This record gives sequence, structure tokens and C-alpha cells, in this order.
Amino acid sequence: MKVYISADMEGVTGVTSWSETEKGHSDYSFFVRQMENEVRAACQGALNAGAKEIWVKDAHDSARNINPGVFKNAKLIRGWSGHPFSMIQELDNSFDALIFIGFHSGGGSKQNPLAHTMNPIDVDYIKINGQYVSEFLIHAYAAATVGVPVVFVSGDQALCHEVKEVNHNIKTLAVKEGIGNSTISIDNAMAIECIRKESEEALKADLCQYKILLPHSFEVEIQYSKHEKAYRASFYPNMKQIAPTKLLYKTENYFEVLRMMLFLT
Ligand SMILES: [Zn+2]
Repeated sequence: MKVYISADMEGVTGVTSWSETEKGHSDYSFFVRQMENEVRAACQGALNAGAKEIWVKDAHDSARNINPGVFKNAKLIRGWSGHPFSMIQELDNSFDALIFIGFHSGGGSKQNPLAHTMNPIDVDYIKINGQYVSEFLIHAYAAATVGVPVVFVSGDQALCHEVKEVNHNIKTLAVKEGIGNSTISIDNAMAIECIRKESEEALKADLCQYKILLPHSFEVEIQYSKHEKAYRASFYPNMKQIAPTKLLYKTENYFEVLRMMLFLT
């Protein structure tokens, strides 16, 4: 079994403020250790479930957060290649399962102080076929194009609800709940223990149950925070500007959605 683990930071236990996710800030060092510990726990769970190969993608900000020594049996992808698969670059049909650690609810949700989708400065929210989407769903769909199922997701509670709506068989662990500019988190050590256990159980189960069905067509709405960003992005091929800060993009090919987001979000 070959397992891919993508790790973000805004959904890591306890993380509440941007400063706690910013390399170089004094708030950061404590929380990046927790991010690493959560990733290590998922790796251990995968190993216990029989994984022969584990790849970890550091997928937060510079993508150079996780210590390269995070787990002896895992390969670590640091930095951004520029591939449209973004937070799951190098994922292909040779992988059996995908795990998301530290993921967070998307722009348009009010249940994580750091809720956003892709670029938190320029993009207010992204909708696909009328629904607000998170980075989880964007990448779960990408994984579906190469036939790899998402088996387990840890992050905030609102994201876990979204995951269950996509496929209720996917295992989730809500390590925190956001209320306004605050969070209520479970204990760090408890989060690590549960991530190890849930990853292991998710991978030991029948992987067919985790399948996500890709829609046949995609209507992607991007709400920018500034009209000048929307104007510039409106020149992307087949892009339609429907309001001063809002764009609409339609396609039947999900890779084209990813390509567009690579350039415009
Ligand atoms: Zn992040």
C-alpha cells in the first residue's frame, strides 16, 4: 500500500492566529511542532495499517515547515513545484489512499478564524456548482481524477462536516471548533493519539467505500476581495466577469479548473 499525506497548518490543533502559522514569528515554533507531531502520527497509523511507501507533502505557505526528519519511513515533498495539483503534487494512480492533516474550512465559512480558500489575501471565497469549497474539496476532486480516495481528514469541525457531506464514509477528526476569532481545541497529545488511531483504522477498511464522484461539469465562481484583481483575472481564457469582484469559469474538465486556479488564486 502506498499512502500520500498532505499537511496544512490552519487546521492543526490549537492554531488560532495567523502569527502562529508564520515562519519566523515567535508564536510559530510551538505550533509547527504540533503540525509535525500530527503528521508523524498519521505516518505511524499508515505504517501500522501496512503501508509500504508513505509520501508527505508540506502544503502550508512556503511548504518548508515540516522538519525533513519527520518520519523515517516517509518521503517528504518540500516547496512548490508549480504543478496544478498544488497541495497534492506528485499524486498519481500508483497511490492507494490520501490523508489530509491540519486542513481547514474554506472562505465563506465562519467556523475557523483562519478560514480561507487558496490565497487568503486576494480571494474571499470560491464556489463550485453553487457550493462554497475548501482546499480539501479542491484537492479531493483532483485526487479523484487519478482514482485516489481520501480516507481520513483532520482539521476544524466545520471542515469535518463538509467532508461527511461529500462522502460520509471518510473518517474525520475535529481537533478544534472555531467561534468568531477564537477556537476550542482538544488536547495536543489526544489529537496525536486519535490521528494515529483513525489513520490506521481508515486504511485497514475497504478503500472502495471512500470514493468521491466527480461532477460531470464545473461552474467555478471566484469572489475576489479587490475589483482590480478580478479585472486582471477576467482576461484568463473563457473567463466571464459577472460582477466587479466576481468571476465565473465553466468547464467539463477538472484539470482545467486546477490550471485556472494555479494562475488566478
Ligand atoms: Zn495553510
